[in-house]
Amino acid sequence: MIGRFLSELRGRRIVGARTAEGRVLVPPLEYDPATGEPVTGEYVEVGPAGTVTAWAWVHEPLDGHPLDRPFAWALIKLDGADTALVHAVCPEHPKAMEAGMRVWPIWRDQPTGHITDISYFAPEVTKIVSNVRSEYRLQAGGALRVFFEGIQRGVFLGGRCDQCDKVYVPYRAACPECGGVIPETRELPDTGTITTFAINNLPDPRAPQVPFVSAYILLDHADIPMIALIGDVPAHEVRQGMRVKAVWVPESERTASMANIRWFAPTGEPDVELS
Ligand SMILES: [Zn+2]
Repeated sequence: MIGRFLSELRGRRIVGARTAEGRVLVPPLEYDPATGEPVTGEYVEVGPAGTVTAWAWVHEPLDGHPLDRPFAWALIKLDGADTALVHAVCPEHPKAMEAGMRVWPIWRDQPTGHITDISYFAPEVTKIVSNVRSEYRLQAGGALRVFFEGIQRGVFLGGRCDQCDKVYVPYRAACPECGGVIPETRELPDTGTITTFAINNLPDPRAPQVPFVSAYILLDHADIPMIALIGDVPAHEVRQGMRVKAVWVPESERTASMANIRWFAPTGEPDVELS
């Protein structure tokens, strides 16, 4: 019985013996310890993963122990088995040991048909923590590039759909509502009205300080709002209907990017009634 068990280890298989009652004993025994009856002679492959049912931590391994670093002796019930096998479990930290934990065998490189062909069992990997940093550059594409060229000159470029009679900003080549072609750009003023806003309490590299306000601003003559920062006003004074104007960085610092607009600042005009 045990000879078959060990020779199967050479092929990195773990087998148990089926009892007359249908239970699977691992490691295999010649007699069912529950009934004293001989087992059936049928071998059943189990595992290789299993579940720890009980364990004891070994702080200082001794000569002859399977590992030279702290580990646990554990009872491991391999998948498909009805009894548990004693073997070493080596987690990263003793706190990782618990009954019910899932473990997988770590096989030695050259199995020889010995129980030490399984070097030890290791906890199942259910999570990998990995730091990822990704830098990328957005390629603006046709219509958005036209808009950014306007931004570089200090102008908001939108476009008007003839069929819907709506002005969209940023400029786009097709109408999002009817799909019609928007043939040409239209310069919009850099003034507008706050339609809705949010006070942000988490720092953002684009904002001068915390709290800062981001808002949807309906540029004059546009039909959809765009998002931007609000500045030069305490956050608690920002309100819907407030009139604002873009604050541009000096011409010498301008690039084809939204960084050209520092933020929108109040103009001091009376608030607008939003419909
Ligand atoms: Zn349209």
